[in-house]
Amino acid sequence: MPTGLFYHPDCLKHDMGFGHPERPERLTAVMEYLNERKVFDNSNITLETPSAITIPELERVHPKEYIDLVHTASDRESRFDSDTRASKGSWNAALLAAGSGIKAWQDIKARNLDNAFALVRPPGHHANAEMARGFCLFNNISLLARHITATISDSKVLILDIDAHHGNGTQEIHYTESRILYLGFHQDGRTLYPGYSGYIEEVGEGPGKGYNINLPLPPGTTDSSFLQGLNVLLPQIAEQFKPTAILVSAGYDAHFRDYLTGLQFSATAFLKASKLIVEVAQKHCKGQVVMFLEGGYDLQALAESVYNTLVGLSGKGKPVDENPPDEDPRIGKYLGKLLSEMKKDLKPWWKISL
Ligand SMILES: [Zn+2]
Repeated sequence: MPTGLFYHPDCLKHDMGFGHPERPERLTAVMEYLNERKVFDNSNITLETPSAITIPELERVHPKEYIDLVHTASDRESRFDSDTRASKGSWNAALLAAGSGIKAWQDIKARNLDNAFALVRPPGHHANAEMARGFCLFNNISLLARHITATISDSKVLILDIDAHHGNGTQEIHYTESRILYLGFHQDGRTLYPGYSGYIEEVGEGPGKGYNINLPLPPGTTDSSFLQGLNVLLPQIAEQFKPTAILVSAGYDAHFRDYLTGLQFSATAFLKASKLIVEVAQKHCKGQVVMFLEGGYDLQALAESVYNTLVGLSGKGKPVDENPPDEDPRIGKYLGKLLSEMKKDLKPWWKISL
C-alpha cells in the first residue's frame, strides 16, 4: 500500500502577514518540488485530500470557548501573540490541517494507505488546549492522538517530535497522561523559543509521570549526534511502551540552511530518521505512522527534506544526498553525558541501554 501525502490548497489561505516566515510558499515550494521529482507518477505515494475536523473532534483537546475564539479571530483577522495571528482563511485552513491527521488515520485503518504525511499549515505543536502561539492554532498531532485513544480501547500513542523547537503545547496537553507518550528532540531551550520547557527533568506528572521524555540538543548539533540519540531512545522506548501508532511532529527548521534555529541537520538526517521510524513502527504497530508538518522555513531545505522523508516512509525513490557541516567534537561528548543522565532519570519507568 502507498504512503499518502495529504494536501489542500485552502491551507494556503491562512496568512500571517507579509514577511512572516510561516508563509503559504512553504507548501507550494514543497508541492512544486514533489511534482518536479514526479513522486505522484507511480503508485508508491498518492496525493490525498483531507477533510475538515468536526467540532466534537476538536473538543477532545480544545475547550469550546477556545474553538470559538479561533473562529472569531479568523473572522476579525486578529492577533493571538506577537508572532501568531489569524486571517479570514485561517479557520478553514486550521480545520483542514487538524482534519488531515484523522482522515489519514482512517485511511490507514481501512488499509488504503501504509502511512501518511500531512503537508499542512497552520502547524500545531506549540498550541496547547487553550492557547494559540508560536504560529500554531490547533494542536493537530494531539487531536489525532486523542482521536486514537478515544476510538480504540487500550490503545497507546507515541508522539515523536523532531522540530527544532520544543513541542511545548503537545507536552502540556499530555503531561498527566500515560496512554500518550511525548518524546521530543529539539534545540536546548536556553538558546531557542519557547525557552522555558523541553528539559530532561520534565518527565510528566501524576499518572503521566515517566511518559514525557525530552532530549535537548545544543546549537550546532548535526546528523550524527541527533541520530545517535534517536537510535538510542526511539527503539527502546517503543519496545517497552508498545504503541498502537507512532505520530511525528515533523519540523524541518533543524536543517542547517534554516535561518530560525541553530541546529545543523542535513536533508539526509530526515531520510535516516524516517527510515528508523518506519522500521520501529513495523516492529510494534503494523507500520502505522502519521507525520505532520510543523516548522521549516528555508524553502529549498524544506522541500528536499520533506521529499527525503517521503522516500523513507514509502521505501522507494532516490533520496537527496547531503552532508551536514562539521560538528564541534564537544557536542557528541556532551550528548553522551546527557544520555547517561537521562538513563538514570528515566530508570523508574524505562530500561535504556546506551
Ligand atoms: Zn520549529
